[in-house]
Amino acid sequence: MKAIVIPEPGRVEVKEFPMVQRREGEAVLKLLYGGVCGSDLGTYRGMNVYAKYPCIIGHEFAARWSGRGKMIMESGKA
Ligand SMILES: [Zn+2]
Repeated sequence: MKAIVIPEPGRVEVKEFPMVQRREGEAVLKLLYGGVCGSDLGTYRGMNVYAKYPCIIGHEFAARWSGRGKMIMESGKA
């Protein structure tokens, strides 16, 4: 699978990573879309005090269940 990586402030790379093995109780999702927003831009610019480099950016995903593993939806939890 591919991920957008910021190895250090001001640099962006697309890197290939091995698929992780599904563990008991987990489902496998196929990522359809991922968002890169202003907080990621702060990481790119070196302004995110919580970022530890290298880091993978992107969040706010839309995905489809691959059919592997149980899909459990919980709501009402923050
Ligand atoms: Zn965001």
